[in-house]
Amino acid sequence: GDPSGGRGISMDFHKPDGCGHPLSDLKEWVAVQSDSVQPDLRKEVIRMMVLAADRLAALGATVNSVNLGSHQLPNGQDLPLPPVILGELGKDPQNPTVCFYGHVDVQPAKKEDGWKTDPYTLTEINGNLYGRGATDNKGPVLAWINAVETFRALKLVVNFKFVIEGMEEAGSLGLEKLLEEENQCFFSDVDYIVISDNVWLSNKKPALTYGSRGNACFLVEVECGGKDLHSGTFGGIIHEPLTDLIALLDSLVDPTGHIQIPGIYDSVAALTEEERKLYESIEFDLEEHKKNSGVKKFLYGTKEEILLHLWRYPSLSIHGIEGAFHEPGIKTVIPSKVIGKFSIRQVPHMDLSVVKRQVRHLEGVFSRRNSPNKLKVSMPLGAKPWLADVNDPLYKAARRAIKKVFGEDPDFIRDGSTVPVARMFQTITQKSVIMFPIGAADDGEHSQNEKISRHNYIEGTKVFAAFFLEISKLHRHLHETSNMEIKN
Ligand SMILES: [Zn+2]
Repeated sequence: GDPSGGRGISMDFHKPDGCGHPLSDLKEWVAVQSDSVQPDLRKEVIRMMVLAADRLAALGATVNSVNLGSHQLPNGQDLPLPPVILGELGKDPQNPTVCFYGHVDVQPAKKEDGWKTDPYTLTEINGNLYGRGATDNKGPVLAWINAVETFRALKLVVNFKFVIEGMEEAGSLGLEKLLEEENQCFFSDVDYIVISDNVWLSNKKPALTYGSRGNACFLVEVECGGKDLHSGTFGGIIHEPLTDLIALLDSLVDPTGHIQIPGIYDSVAALTEEERKLYESIEFDLEEHKKNSGVKKFLYGTKEEILLHLWRYPSLSIHGIEGAFHEPGIKTVIPSKVIGKFSIRQVPHMDLSVVKRQVRHLEGVFSRRNSPNKLKVSMPLGAKPWLADVNDPLYKAARRAIKKVFGEDPDFIRDGSTVPVARMFQTITQKSVIMFPIGAADDGEHSQNEKISRHNYIEGTKVFAAFFLEISKLHRHLHETSNMEIKN
């Protein structure tokens, strides 16, 4: 039956009780300039961690603020890292344990950057709550905490864990190591991991995110000698490095966007019928996306093809050439050393080391040119893709919760860029991970006038509470079934 006794999830957001009113909580959190990027604001990040720890303690959670020491800035200055908060509420082995990840640091923001309101004063205009961190990620973190509070009051059956960090916008320094250290301890009894640190694909229709692409970045260096040369003196008699490099870069991708590196598509997961169906109902405004990009024409003409190529097929982009003359005007120089930069957005089940080997195709192209120049290809950065199973109980529960609160099924979406934290949790803990956004596509994370709508904030809180109910039902059902199987 329904553990809430048929009451469903209803919440009164107008009566401040317990730990505080959800809007005044958010106002208080947004007022802290917890910018993890600028060193002089680090003390504010640390103050924010204390606020968050206190908020969890007020819920009744056991809170452990793990000290991560310090890190060194490029100028040699030593800066303390904010602690990572590990919180725990409830420990009944009968219940599922849901671990929530969120961050309370923010991107830099200044009124002069073009904000209509003070970025650190939560301001409501036409149903939108403007302020730095409103959607990324203070709003969703508070929505989750407030949902836990309401849900606990109903005495329902879920154990909660929390991982709250303060360095997400600066590369989550120290988090990966902590997760590895805690994998056998803090995470040992975690069943599900929820991250709510992204937004829907549309302004109105809810979404669940189940994958992100990885990225492998490459440098291609071609060098002829120690110094730049004059084209009047050497033009026509030498193998020019930039000519070699342009031929190399030109061998990477054809005009239809197809990557020409042999074997690169070999391990790309085949598109199943079930997966293709997920794309049909997705709410995505192709014309709007085109308008935002400023380009006249995309490589593909339908919504489905565009999303498939953004999310589940690899892409190759050329980013630049270091050492080439790029200023206005004319200079008759032959650069002696040029470095081409490109990256491959990779997808399941491509393997970074295999991709790295396949890119050596450039050596073949180069050798056919019979150039005496020196070629060096390297991969300084590689991030893996992430993919979850949409049939996992976690996704079923979230889908049911969305249907209940928003009255419609969510879009199942992926992210074309890299989401390191989801991949990190999945790889280290081997638990199922969901990205469960409550913000809308137009929230403007990282940009001026960041907001979350009051509607999304409040309904987002409800949807989290509804999710707890659904996951507890599904989890109990799974256990009853598996116990029956053991008895049989
Ligand atoms: Zn974020």
